[in-house]
Amino acid sequence: MKGRVAKEKAEGAWKGKYRCAVTFSVDVDCESLWCGTFKLTTPSPLSRGEFGARAGVPRLLELFEKYEVPASWFIPAQTVEERPETCEAIKRRALRPDIAYHGYYHESVLNLPLDEERDLMKRGMKVLGEFFEQVPRGNRSPPFALGPNTADLLEEFGYTYDSSLFGHDEPYRPRVPYAKGRLRNFVEVPVCWELDDAPYFMFNFFPYMSGFCAPSHVSEIWKAEFDGSYANGACFILVLHPQVIGRYSRMQMLEDLIRYIKKRPDVWWANHLEVAEEWKRRQVGKGLWK
Ligand SMILES: [Zn+2]
Repeated sequence: MKGRVAKEKAEGAWKGKYRCAVTFSVDVDCESLWCGTFKLTTPSPLSRGEFGARAGVPRLLELFEKYEVPASWFIPAQTVEERPETCEAIKRRALRPDIAYHGYYHESVLNLPLDEERDLMKRGMKVLGEFFEQVPRGNRSPPFALGPNTADLLEEFGYTYDSSLFGHDEPYRPRVPYAKGRLRNFVEVPVCWELDDAPYFMFNFFPYMSGFCAPSHVSEIWKAEFDGSYANGACFILVLHPQVIGRYSRMQMLEDLIRYIKKRPDVWWANHLEVAEEWKRRQVGKGLWK
C-alpha cells in the first residue's frame, strides 16, 4: 500500500519528486522589436533595443548565475547577426541554455504565405544552429501570435514545443486550427500577458502599453501566480525582455521573486525544453499522449 501511494505520488510529480516547476524565458529581441514589429528605424527607438544588449542581458546573466537559474532564450536570427557579442555571452555564461526560435526579423507570421514563413524559419534556424551549436526545438512567434501555418511548420521541422498560445496556465497539447483542429505533435508551454514584463513596464505610444508600473505592483501579481502554481503542483512560466526588465528597479524586484521562490522546497527549476519533455513524458506514462 505504502509503495503504491509513493508510486502514485511520484507519477504525479515533476521528475518524480518535485511539487512544482518554474521556468523562465528571455526574449532577446534587441533592435528587431523596433524595426521588425513596430517598423521604427530611427536611432532613438532602435537604441531602446540596444539597452537590452548593453545592460539587460549582462544583468540577467549575472542574476541567473548568482541563483543558478536556467532559462530558455528566444532569439531572432537578426539579433545573432547584429549582436554576436551578446549572443556569445549567453552561449558562454547561461546555465543549460535552451536556444529557441523567435522569428528571423521578429516578423509577424499572421499574414505570411506558407512558403515565405518556411523559408524564414529554415534560414533563421540555420543561423541559430550554427552560432549556438544546437538546433532550436522551441518556437515563440512574435509577439505571441502563432500564424495559421506555423503549427504545420513546427511539426515539419520537428519542434518539441511552442510557446505562443494562452490556453492554460500549465503545459498542454494544443489543437490547431483552434478548438476543432487536430491535436498537435508538440507541447504548448503557454504564455500570458500577466506573466510578461512588457505590458507592465514597456512604455509605448499605444494605449494598451502605458508602461511605468511600480515594481511592487508586479511583484504582488507574480508572487501570487507562483503561489497558485505551487499549491496546484503546476508550472510557473515567466517571460522577460532584457530591454524591459533590465532597469535597476525591476532587476531588484526579479531578484526578490527568485529568492521568494527559492525559499520553497520541492521546486524544479528548468528551461522550457526540459519542462516540455518532462510534461510529455508524464502524459505518455499515463497513456494520455497517443
Ligand atoms: Zn519578442
